[in-house]
Amino acid sequence: MLNDIISRHIAQSGPISIAQFMAYALSHPEFGYYQTTDPFGGKGDFTTAPEISQVFGELIGIWCAHQWQQMGCPSSVIFVEVGPGRGTLMQDLLRGTRHVPGFHTALNIHMVETSPLLKTMQQSVLTAYPGICWHENLVDVPDGPLLLVANELFDALPIHQYVKTGTGWRERLLGLNKERKLAYHLSPVVPFEEELDLSHPDAPEGSLVEVCPMGLAILHEITRRLKAQHGAALIIDYGYDTPPYSNTLQALKFHKHHPTLADIGDADISAHVDFSALQTYSLKQGVSTSAILPQRNFLLAMGIEHRLQALLKNANESQHQELTTAAHRLIDPQQMGTLFKVLELHA
Ligand code: SAH
Repeated sequence: MLNDIISRHIAQSGPISIAQFMAYALSHPEFGYYQTTDPFGGKGDFTTAPEISQVFGELIGIWCAHQWQQMGCPSSVIFVEVGPGRGTLMQDLLRGTRHVPGFHTALNIHMVETSPLLKTMQQSVLTAYPGICWHENLVDVPDGPLLLVANELFDALPIHQYVKTGTGWRERLLGLNKERKLAYHLSPVVPFEEELDLSHPDAPEGSLVEVCPMGLAILHEITRRLKAQHGAALIIDYGYDTPPYSNTLQALKFHKHHPTLADIGDADISAHVDFSALQTYSLKQGVSTSAILPQRNFLLAMGIEHRLQALLKNANESQHQELTTAAHRLIDPQQMGTLFKVLELHA
């Protein structure tokens, strides 16, 4: 269905950017992936850290409570999760911090979610916490000292791709081939070649660079708020700290890689996150950042092994195995431990 809609668009108005293609695939109001699908879990297309282990949300909760204490325990704080999926992270985080004196009373919880389907799911699992507000855009969240969490949000935001050729940079576009089928090709020109040259002076010919304007727009709003109101933000996702200079656009269906142009809107589509771009932009805005940490280092520093041991005390043998495997999946360098990165922002 989306294949036809996109093909018609291209036939009428010419090739589209990878960003427009991703926006169609993920957010078309009728057939977009996030509008129609619950993507998570064993029966879904992919799974995320909070869906794998409760320890993840609990440790993020400890991080948030600690940041709140560092802020001087303000009596009111705007607590935002952007892209909350099934609401699992928020549930685990709130359960994990219920004994921190004064913390829950201080929280004004705001969920930023564009998918109506996932918003309904989040509402149904968070009924124990009345007063949570939902928004489609971060700009609609009220001002105030800020704590913000975003896990696997940025990978789902549309990217543009540029390729360095012998005759300069070209944008990778989606058009129609002679058989009128969707096919990738390169644009004849790129309007801001100089900028790409300046930011990637050492990129060899053939390099592919990915740029995520929507990610930077969301980051702009986060850093603007941090500077004006103080607080901290935590961004976690799969991505890189130095550009791989290759294509990271990927489709996943039933936990397996899938061709990006097959089943558009029925498969998840995402790209690895350029953490160096997020860090550079934040610093330019006057917000301080942590180093770009592998998820493994962050979770070990937050005490994942201690938390696991505490859970194991009350576990039977099969739970013991399950809990251990799940927690280790988050930190194993062969699994999510190093592919996933963490960036903390403070102001
Ligand atoms: N954080 C969750 C879900 C990750 S999937 C987890 O870790 O399990 C990406 C989430 O971001 C989904 O909830 C999706 O609907 C949401 N999303 C995608 N684009 C968004 C945008 N522009 N603003 C807010 N949420 C968005």
